[in-house]
Amino acid sequence: MGSMIREILTYPDPRLKKAATEVANMDGSLAELVEDMVQTMYAAPGIGLAATQVGSQDRIIVIDAHPDEKGKELLKLINPRITTSEGFIVWEEGCLSVVDYTAEVKRAAKVEVTAWTLDQEEITFQAEELLAVCLQHELDHLTGKLFIDRISRLKRELYARRVKKLIREGRPLERSKESPGI
Ligand code: ZN
Repeated sequence: MGSMIREILTYPDPRLKKAATEVANMDGSLAELVEDMVQTMYAAPGIGLAATQVGSQDRIIVIDAHPDEKGKELLKLINPRITTSEGFIVWEEGCLSVVDYTAEVKRAAKVEVTAWTLDQEEITFQAEELLAVCLQHELDHLTGKLFIDRISRLKRELYARRVKKLIREGRPLERSKESPGI
C-alpha cells in the first residue's frame, strides 16, 4: 500500500469554499488520506495542506514548516481547533491553491491549538511565527476561506481578473516552485 499524490484544487474551484466537517471515525481510510496529504504537500512543494485542498471534507491538516528536515516536525492534525490567540503578525503568504500570487496577511502572532493525532490522542500545543501563520492559514481552508479573502477587495479582484484571463486564454496556471506554498 503506497501513498498517492493527489491533485491540489486551485482557485476558483468552488470546492475550496466548502467547510469541512469534524472527523468522527478514525479508521484505516483516514490514515490513507493523511499519508496522501503528506506526500502531496512535500511533492508540491508545500509546508502545509488542508484536506479541503484535495477535495476532502474531513477536518484534517498536515504541516511541516521545516521541510529541509523532512518529517522531523511533521504535524498531522485531526479536528484541529485554535483555543487561544494573541498579538498580531504580518506575513507574506502564498498558497498551493492560489497559484502565482503572494500577499501580506495579518494574523495572530501566537496561537494555542488542540487537535487529535492519528493515534487518537488529544494534543495541545503553542505555536508562533511561521508555524502560527501556517496553522491559521490551514484552519481557514477548513472553513472554506483562502488567504485572498483576507486582503483588500481591490487586490483580490485584480487577482481574480488575472486568473479569469489566463483561463479564458487556455493558459495553464503554473504553481511557482520557488517559494513553498501553504
Ligand atoms: Zn493554502
